[in-house]
Amino acid sequence: MIQFDKLQTPAKGDKIKISEEKLVVTDTPIIPFIEGDGIGPDIMRASKRVWDAAVEKAYGGKRRIIWFELFAGDKAAEKYGEVLPEDTVRAIEHFIVAIKGPLTTPVGGGYRSLNVTMRQRLNLYACVRPVKYFEGVPSPVVHPERMNVVIFRENTEDVYAGIEWKEGTDEARKLIALLGDQFGVSIREDSGIGIKPISITGTKRLVRKAIQYALDRKLPSVTLVHKGNIMKFTEGAFRDWGYELAREEFGDVTVAEQELWERHDGQMPAGKILIKDRIADSMFQQVLTRTDEYSVVALPNLNGDYLSDACAAQIGGLGLAPGANIGDYVALFEATHGTAPKYAGMDKVNPGSLILSGVMMLEYLGWQEAADLINEAMGLAIKQKKVTYDLARLMGDVPPIKTSEFGSAIIENMKT
Ligand code: NAP
Repeated sequence: MIQFDKLQTPAKGDKIKISEEKLVVTDTPIIPFIEGDGIGPDIMRASKRVWDAAVEKAYGGKRRIIWFELFAGDKAAEKYGEVLPEDTVRAIEHFIVAIKGPLTTPVGGGYRSLNVTMRQRLNLYACVRPVKYFEGVPSPVVHPERMNVVIFRENTEDVYAGIEWKEGTDEARKLIALLGDQFGVSIREDSGIGIKPISITGTKRLVRKAIQYALDRKLPSVTLVHKGNIMKFTEGAFRDWGYELAREEFGDVTVAEQELWERHDGQMPAGKILIKDRIADSMFQQVLTRTDEYSVVALPNLNGDYLSDACAAQIGGLGLAPGANIGDYVALFEATHGTAPKYAGMDKVNPGSLILSGVMMLEYLGWQEAADLINEAMGLAIKQKKVTYDLARLMGDVPPIKTSEFGSAIIENMKT
């Protein structure tokens, strides 16, 4: 039995296990949660009620989540004297599936983003963001309903690896000199330097996850997005290794776009997944102009960051966008917005992003029925214009309801 410094493992419930490369989830799994800072407690309270109600309704009381509170951010600082205690990281690793609210990151120092630290410590290499439209949400585009993608963004490499040196430092100067002396590369002396590593390992494990996701859900395509025409050995290699992985490990269930014309006369064979690639700048046009041609999308870190928010904007903004950071098995689900401190404790903000992250979590557990109940009920609540201030102000003449009331409206709309 795992021992913690200041945590008491719940007396009931079971740890999720892994057997034959699959999660084994009993009817009463222990799921750790981190409330989060700022609006975190407001949205977590409302979300837990929704998740619990859906599980109760979907399985007639047979299944139940045993919640286990972990600490990070402000609450951890009070309890442990540090913002990310070892207990928290160990508990997530041990119990495998966890969910969190937003955490404060002070600008310009203090400490590194807790979110980034957790992703690195737990090796959560895939950032997964489904982007799907809910009818009735105001959107800046004519056909927001055509957007239905799941974005797999690489989480550990690229210019986000944090390997950079400030202009004028010894390190920057040494690197500039080394590149000049040994590689004949001329870089202005007053430059800052950043390094962009993209590896076979990092690419293949991400693309493997994206293709497996498409396969499990019978989705039609996986698109590799890159800027390989310019950055050939990083972004271009991402594309090449992605196709290679598809051929090596999923050759019997995938068709590369080029083969589609060479071998299949442009007709997609039934039941197979199309693997295609797009250059990043073109992809930003395509998600607007040929939106419904894309399903699962896999990208390196920086492109993934940009494209996730651009896609979310098309369906009405980040307020309803869920997310997860996933490794080989360990998965940490989270709201994609921040702590919105000015609204903390006001029972005012939209809990939609966290609730939908919980839907992803239920799907990850294999509890699809409970996930479907929430998706449908949230869609109905929005159609009925029972929404929090952020959506109400976009809808025009709609009186906003509270965070907790939005939770209740979803629960009332659950049909079994
Ligand atoms: P933010 O907390 O996301 O808030 C920016 C604005 O977005 C809010 O003022 C509000 O807009 C709107 N908003 C955010 N969440 C909302 C919700 N649930 N419902 C309705 N509206 C919502 O971004 P920030 O102010 O840049 O960041 C604040 C703190 O959060 C920072 O410390 C940042 O580092 C942290 N952060 C954490 C995470 C994370 O933990 N994953 C992610 C991002 C940021 P209006 O003012 O227009 O109403």
